[in-house]
Amino acid sequence: MSKVLGEFDVAIVGGGPGGSTLASLLRRQGRSVCIVERDPFPRFRIGESLLPFSMDTFQRIGVLEKIRAAGYQVKHGARFVVDETLEEECFWFRNGLDKDHPFAFQVQRAPFDKLLLDHATELGAKVYQPLAALNLTVHEDGAELDTPEGRIRAQVVADVSGRWTFMSGRQNQRKIHPSHRKVTVFGHFREVTRCEQDPGNIIIARFGDTKMGWFWLIPFADGTTSVGVVADSEYFRASGKTPAEFFGESVRNSRSIGPRMIKAERIGELRTEADFSYTSERHVGDRLIKVGDAGAFIDPVFSSGVFLSVKAAEMAAEAIAGAFDTGDFSEKSFLGYEERVRVGTKVFWAFIDAFYNKDFLKQMVTSRRRPLLQKSITSLLAGDIYNERNMLIAYLTGKDGAYADAELQSLMG
Ligand SMILES: Cc1cc2nc3c(=O)[nH]c(=O)nc-3n(C[C@H](O)[C@H](O)[C@H](O)COP(=O)(O)OP(=O)(O)OC[C@H]3O[C@@H](n4cnc5c(N)ncnc54)[C@H](O)[C@@H]3O)c2cc1C
Repeated sequence: MSKVLGEFDVAIVGGGPGGSTLASLLRRQGRSVCIVERDPFPRFRIGESLLPFSMDTFQRIGVLEKIRAAGYQVKHGARFVVDETLEEECFWFRNGLDKDHPFAFQVQRAPFDKLLLDHATELGAKVYQPLAALNLTVHEDGAELDTPEGRIRAQVVADVSGRWTFMSGRQNQRKIHPSHRKVTVFGHFREVTRCEQDPGNIIIARFGDTKMGWFWLIPFADGTTSVGVVADSEYFRASGKTPAEFFGESVRNSRSIGPRMIKAERIGELRTEADFSYTSERHVGDRLIKVGDAGAFIDPVFSSGVFLSVKAAEMAAEAIAGAFDTGDFSEKSFLGYEERVRVGTKVFWAFIDAFYNKDFLKQMVTSRRRPLLQKSITSLLAGDIYNERNMLIAYLTGKDGAYADAELQSLMG
């Protein structure tokens, strides 16, 4: 029998933004909590542009002032460009349906994730790091998490392990979106020309040919910028190029990003990721709840990942509180959580589908003529995805991907 490292109300696998947020919320409920994080921090992670609607969550756990004090780049808007025509529009968060969420931050994740994890530690979470969770066993009266150094006992285990999908992987529940297989190549650079309207804005530039995909340009407070290209996996493979060649050629071919990168000087390595859009059959089980990327991740074009993860952490904290109140830790008791998480993913997925497959980008960059459409898009970009006043959400999710411009016109002027 391996030794018992500790016994907690809740054990969390993963110390990224979702895991740290959940731990902080549970500590505020008075629960005993541990986080098991495999990597020593600080460590690199992609996912650098945050959404305004995650600021509420950071405020709620008491870390917003620390984020502000750390001096991260403030982001007031998102600029979208059609690369071939240079048609573009900047969406300012202050102009959304909700006026109270005018900004977010753009962050290098290495120090940012450490700041959140340190905050959870300060609130009383026990952090085991570096330590990997190897296996989960669920019994009638509790759960046990195996690690190389011993077992951790808990009433509930939250899997917040990110794209490593600790439990969905073991349960064979991870399903890659077959029609959405993408590759990305990205890096950090000095001397990139930033958004002229506001140097803190993110820029997303899309090539009309969706197989070629799109670029992100995310500025940081220290003057460096994250730049990445996303393309269809098939298109990338067929090019026969190395990631570095593919990145270089994409920059040279881009009318909007090329000129911004003329003096660019790379810091560190170019990195790649592939097949990052997937879901899980289930987001819950007996004594188990999956949060953030551990359950699903959708395409990064609208910077929704950290937002969806910390929002799910809030919903998970509520579901776990309910389970402790009733003493019912069954899968059934967590089904409401799963449903709410799926609603959020569905909204962003519908938005992403419109962006990739249809003429929606054209509508975005000409939306100035249609103020209601522009406001509605701005709200979605800010993360205001549960807003029932937003008719665009009802339209995109109700149509199940069948975006039709004429219908949108009649709905939104
Ligand atoms: C190309 C690309 C661009 C992106 N851009 C953005 C963006 O601009 N904005 C945005 O919000 N999101 C973006 N994302 C998404 C973002 O990276 C994730 O959604 C976000 O990091 C999810 O947070 P999380 O806490 O759920 O998981 P993570 O941040 O992945 O944290 C999971 C943690 O779990 C740990 N872990 C894994 N397995 C184990 C184990 N067995 N035992 C112990 N620990 C373990 C890992 O070490 C990691 O620290 C992007 C993603 C991609 C692929």
